[in-house]
Amino acid sequence: MAELVIRNLHVSIEGKEILKGVDLTLPQGEVHAIMGPNGTGKSTLAYTLMGHPSYEVTEGEVIYRGQNVLDLAANERSLLGIFLAFQYPVGIPGVTVANFIRSAINARRRSINPEDKGVPLLEFRREVKSQMELLRMDPAFAGRYLNDGFSGGEKKRAEILQMAMLKPEIAILDETDSGLDIDALKVVSDGVNTLKGPDLGVLVITHYQRILNYIQPDVVHVMMGGRIVESGDKDLALHLEERGYEWIREKVNGIA
Ligand code: ADP
Ligand code: MG
Repeated sequence: MAELVIRNLHVSIEGKEILKGVDLTLPQGEVHAIMGPNGTGKSTLAYTLMGHPSYEVTEGEVIYRGQNVLDLAANERSLLGIFLAFQYPVGIPGVTVANFIRSAINARRRSINPEDKGVPLLEFRREVKSQMELLRMDPAFAGRYLNDGFSGGEKKRAEILQMAMLKPEIAILDETDSGLDIDALKVVSDGVNTLKGPDLGVLVITHYQRILNYIQPDVVHVMMGGRIVESGDKDLALHLEERGYEWIREKVNGIA
């Protein structure tokens, strides 16, 4: 069983250190959630894993299958079996959800074999249909133009469908922007619940505890001040819902 290992990760934005030594191990086959108050660096972690150029890694590593993921380009991360949400460019006119996913699959096939002719259209259509049935999505959605006036829920639907089609071993999903959208939350939860299994590890970075009413994570991590300060099972999430984050802050500071 492969695992994604984040080790002593330090990340700065514009010279300001945001992540101050994140340690986290995500094995294939498990669903982990990261929670934490606003401004603690959750999205910074997501963007760093996605290779966003504004996020400067000053220390640490992210190892998957013997490679430092941080040294790899986005397509190489995908080849390695890592799915990073928001990998796609936003709002490309005239490109449908299906076309976009097909070109992502073909790009990946071509980076394995430059001679590859791409996934045959019929085979692709069959697979999209079957994944959409599995995910209980309206088949018409595949024909929509990508991000053309998409709601938070529809953006997430495109993301989850892409994930279902690319079949990654590790998926990292950030709730940025859509945290207030209950439809988006449900799309992500249903998708994760449907697709999870022994071959898929999922890291859900969430800004709102209520996603955990829909997803049952194996492990919940709490991030504070740019570090993982507490990990536990789903009871930890319930505890946070009841008592907020203050008790952890006190524990971390050694006051309590
Ligand atoms: P979270 O997702 O946990 O709410 P973020 O990772 O978005 O936290 O932000 C962590 C800190 O980094 C905050 O203090 C925020 O102001 C700062 N930050 C995030 N993105 C940027 C950016 N692009 N430029 C400057 N500061 C940023
Ligand atoms: Mg955020």
